[in-house]
Amino acid sequence: MTEHEHVRVAVIGSGFGGLGAAVRLRREGVTDFVVLERADSVGGTWRDNSYPGCACDVPSHLYSFSFAPNPDWPRTFSGQEHIRGYLEHVTDVFRLRPHIRFNSEVKMMTWDAERLRWDIETSSGSYSADLVVSATGPLSDPKIPDIEGLDSFPGKVFHSARWDHDYDLRGKRVAMVGTGASAIQIVPSIQPEVERLTLFQRTPPWVMPRVDRAISGAERALHRALPFTTQARRGLLWGLRELQVQAFTKRPNELGMVEQLAKRNMARSIKDPALRAELTPDYRIGCKRILLSSAYYPALAQPNVDVVTSGLSEVRGSTVVGADGSTAEVDAIVFGTGFHVTDMPIADRVVGADGRTLAEAWQGGMQALRGASAAGFPNWMTIIGPNTGLGNSSMILMIESQLNYMADYVRQLDVLGGRVALDARPAAVDAWNRRVQERMKRTVWNTGGCTSWYLDANGRNTTIWPGTTTEFRTATRRVHLAEYEVVRTPAEKKAEAAV
Ligand SMILES: Cc1cc2nc3c(=O)[nH]c(=O)nc-3n(C[C@H](O)[C@H](O)[C@H](O)COP(=O)(O)OP(=O)(O)OC[C@H]3O[C@@H](n4cnc5c(N)ncnc54)[C@H](O)[C@@H]3O)c2cc1C
Repeated sequence: MTEHEHVRVAVIGSGFGGLGAAVRLRREGVTDFVVLERADSVGGTWRDNSYPGCACDVPSHLYSFSFAPNPDWPRTFSGQEHIRGYLEHVTDVFRLRPHIRFNSEVKMMTWDAERLRWDIETSSGSYSADLVVSATGPLSDPKIPDIEGLDSFPGKVFHSARWDHDYDLRGKRVAMVGTGASAIQIVPSIQPEVERLTLFQRTPPWVMPRVDRAISGAERALHRALPFTTQARRGLLWGLRELQVQAFTKRPNELGMVEQLAKRNMARSIKDPALRAELTPDYRIGCKRILLSSAYYPALAQPNVDVVTSGLSEVRGSTVVGADGSTAEVDAIVFGTGFHVTDMPIADRVVGADGRTLAEAWQGGMQALRGASAAGFPNWMTIIGPNTGLGNSSMILMIESQLNYMADYVRQLDVLGGRVALDARPAAVDAWNRRVQERMKRTVWNTGGCTSWYLDANGRNTTIWPGTTTEFRTATRRVHLAEYEVVRTPAEKKAEAAV
């Protein structure tokens, strides 16, 4: 246990967001910081998701830091172990390890208005920090639905993000619950080895072919010899995705053409018209994340796979029961049912200036100024905060924009000098969110006719950014001081008043 450590900045989480923040802080000349990580290694998403077939669905040359290009990506869509290895490498190259406190789960952070600092309780001791950068990830706390009878299921149960590698699925009867991004990677990976696979599909996804290939030795040698070719490749991947954004945000009808390609992808493997009908979504493509796989439909066409087109409603002993009444005996249930996104657990652990938790402040829906700052939570910012998610491109672009914002935040605090904090003005937060929600109205995520994890319990889209990554980069280039109240310690305020 540490006694107590005071730092200038406490970063929480060591995924792409937290590690990126650490690199950026060092580059800004800030060395007095810690990275608090609940696990015993770095990697976040890419440490926790080790299920068979786990890989990125944005090409690796774009799904990596611009400041740490990797000429050696082995595939166009690299697998989990390579992405995790990349993040370990970044940690070493940028000498971040001395800053990281592993096995340090943040239990509570409370704003101390007298001393203008955050008091942070962790599982390994207490810290205080002038500034908190929360990078706990929107997809880091797995969600398993409340299913009647699940507790008494005698077999094995686990979530895709907590894969049990000690459990051998070979020859087993397995229920896979969910058909999201993880499930469509898992299904083709385990189908050849399980005895029977029962897939519970509540809503079919749109699935496009994944053009994945090994990156040749010659290409890698070229990238190593001429680093600008890696940047050029990244630029091209970014530019193509940037051009697609308008269709998602302003002209969802144009996406109809893409639906035809997805239908052809399905028709190539699924010959049974009844199954094809069951697998065809009834909402506009893009409304939920477009999934990429060339192996999913071929796997579903195999004789050892049953698709149940309803959710899992009950478990009776070792029998799983679908909402449509269908039953199957299984040895294991794997949940690919997503994460706590709009109800992120960290929000219950942040207590702001007026004694309310962030979860209480966000009761009507998450909202933050420029995706980062919440009113009443001075000197606290989040990476991949509300409305910073992307439907079609790399989250690393958004993370890097938020790091620009963080860097300017630190600079602004320096310029103001003394003990000082910035608290987002409620009017500025509201104005930002009104603009975001106004733009959201026309997007495919809100008009496409689906329910998705992009929407919160009130049906509001608090997760996706309704614009291009360039627009977000521009919006987060600088901290606009007019959008913040400058907070001083009560003692300093008294002294000022006396002058
Ligand atoms: C299976 C999967 C595939 C994905 N593929 C892509 C893709 O191809 N392209 C893309 O753009 N995005 C993808 N994503 C989204 C992905 O989550 C982001 O791209 C990115 O990795 C998020 O990084 P992060 O650092 O914000 O969060 P994370 O990687 O989730 O890291 C958060 C870290 O915070 C730690 N933490 C959480 N709570 C606490 C606490 N209370 N105290 C201390 N530490 C804590 C966690 O242990 C974790 O290490 C994928 C997500 C998943 C789940």
